[in-house]
Amino acid sequence: MTRKIAIIGNPNVGKTVIFNKLTGMKQHVGNWPGVTVEKKEGRFKHKGKTFHITDLPGTYSLAPHAVDELIARKYILEEKPEIVIDVVDASNLERNLYLTHLLKELGVNVVVALNMLDVAENKGYSIDAGRLSETIGFPVVPMIATKDYGFKELKDALVGSKPTKTTAYMQYSPKVENLINHLSKEISADKKLSGYPRRWLAIKLLERDPEVLKCVEKSIRRQHIEKHLENAEKITGEDPEIYFTDKRYDHIMGMLPRFMKKSERKDVNHTERLDNLLLNKHFAIPIFLFLMWSLFQFAFTASVPFMGLMEYSFEWLGSAVSPMVEDPWLNSLLVDGLIGGMGFIAVFIPPIMLMFFGLSVMEDSGYLARAAFVTDKFMYKLGLHGRSFIPLLMGFGCNVPAIMAARSIESNRDRLITILINPFMSCSARLPVYALFAGVFFPGMEGLVIFSLYFLGIIAAIFTALLLQKTILKGTATPFILELPVYQIPTLRSTLIHMWDRSAVFVKKASTVLLVGAVFVWFISVHPWGAPVEESYASSIGKAVEPVTKPLGFDWRANVALLTGFMAKEAVVETFGILYGVEDGVAGRISANMDWLTAYAFMVFVLLYTPCIAVIGVMRSETGSWKWPFLSIIYSILLAYSTALLITFIGRSIL
Ligand code: GDP
Ligand code: MG
Repeated sequence: MTRKIAIIGNPNVGKTVIFNKLTGMKQHVGNWPGVTVEKKEGRFKHKGKTFHITDLPGTYSLAPHAVDELIARKYILEEKPEIVIDVVDASNLERNLYLTHLLKELGVNVVVALNMLDVAENKGYSIDAGRLSETIGFPVVPMIATKDYGFKELKDALVGSKPTKTTAYMQYSPKVENLINHLSKEISADKKLSGYPRRWLAIKLLERDPEVLKCVEKSIRRQHIEKHLENAEKITGEDPEIYFTDKRYDHIMGMLPRFMKKSERKDVNHTERLDNLLLNKHFAIPIFLFLMWSLFQFAFTASVPFMGLMEYSFEWLGSAVSPMVEDPWLNSLLVDGLIGGMGFIAVFIPPIMLMFFGLSVMEDSGYLARAAFVTDKFMYKLGLHGRSFIPLLMGFGCNVPAIMAARSIESNRDRLITILINPFMSCSARLPVYALFAGVFFPGMEGLVIFSLYFLGIIAAIFTALLLQKTILKGTATPFILELPVYQIPTLRSTLIHMWDRSAVFVKKASTVLLVGAVFVWFISVHPWGAPVEESYASSIGKAVEPVTKPLGFDWRANVALLTGFMAKEAVVETFGILYGVEDGVAGRISANMDWLTAYAFMVFVLLYTPCIAVIGVMRSETGSWKWPFLSIIYSILLAYSTALLITFIGRSIL
């Protein structure tokens, strides 16, 4: 017999870490609320018992306002797990116990995982788990999930856990209790609701919980309910939802001293001191920008030797393979097309991995969550929900999963805006293009140039968000609470896993889409067979578009590169590699065909122009219509063209 259990808790309390360590399943572990939007399941055995476990999305309460909370609540009410592990952040008990309290009210069989004890200790809190357990009436297991502490005890507690009878946990004022009793009796007539605790339903009704209201509508007449609700308002003297929330918090605050002591150990509280600096009113944004700039600069300086090594290896491979294949056609396909094209892309794997390494360090140390905090107020001004920050940030990796991550935003309007502006967050596929051009045209200033492009992308996103907000997607954003984890020194292992998870996407793409792209570009560049590249199909295609791109100064090669870039943005660089032929020295030949201003305009064009096919596909599936992806293609091409033209125009008139 397997026992069905679930993990619940506020965001960032360690649910995923505990879930992973219990099940041994490999999975993404991050700092972001919203990462665990999808349901994750696993199995494990302990003392001959098998457990089937579900990782629920992070929730602060069980109110049906946010999608995540609704998912968690529905799961508990409808799937009825035998035991719910409530993961509680020991360094933040006041807020975390609110959810525990709600679970108690719901009559769920809970085992409390009192996690992050190390953090609590650093903050100078000491918590008596035994007394906490006595007070709330659930077993409590002290844990430090990241240090493997407490897992055996947790599993023992699960095996030993027996359903307890729901006792009235806390009493509201006598008049309110009277009302609750009255309502519970009326509700019990409805058979469909018989599985739900009646007292809970009654309280939810008084709180005007829309889901519960919908449920009971059939058994109790609407007018009848309204009478009760008005009555409740009269008794409590305020909005009953606020009344109940306040009473619960009062209750929690009242019992805290029974099991928790705070000692003033300010010296240990490095998080607070770091935050005073990093979240300083005046310095927060400059520091954020400086750190991002350092990240790019680091990735590109430190990777130079590795890039050279990659280049050398592929050149060597080409010269080794070439004499072995006699057929000139096949030889050209292998050496110029596959090895040349792929090698050109492979050169950019080191800087990309290093950038992801840096980003992972920032995320695991807790800084990225601050970046969200720093930008939150700003996002709100754009009419965006704070939650949009996460998908937008993920866009720097790849816009496809980033757009999918926007699912965690409950308001349709906020979601659409987040999806539509996401492609302007410069994904890693565009990085090789910048790396190539910045290296050739702006030696020594690569970091600054690349930073300026990322920044421009953000400006384009902001501009677009404002435009959408003023025109077709009017409205205001819903407010947001953001969780700030404590700072910690990231472990090398988790940083490397993060880095690998992200780089793998790039490598995988290189071995599929880009391989096909390489063959295609090679084919059009050497056919008609025997003709010089200037007379190839590629050249004819590129020249056909020339009238349009002439004002920007792009030649036919750049045009072909942009066309293939629609398939995947890395293909832009791949195409240059093949059209110029790697061993002839792409750098020298590119700089012969354009100057630095055109090169910059070209990078800007690549940054802003149409999202790649994969993004278009995911936009269509996430919005459920072709309207938005089409709008996105047309809008972004126009924006890219006019921005590149503006840059060229201003540049030429100044110089
Ligand atoms: P979730 O949002 O609840 O799933 O939280 P995660 O499992 O993703 O953990 C959030 C962050 O807290 C991660 O960076 C974890 O490494 C970290 N973390 C989890 N448990 C502990 C703990 O006991 N102590 C410390 N110091 N960090 C922890
Ligand atoms: Mg999680």
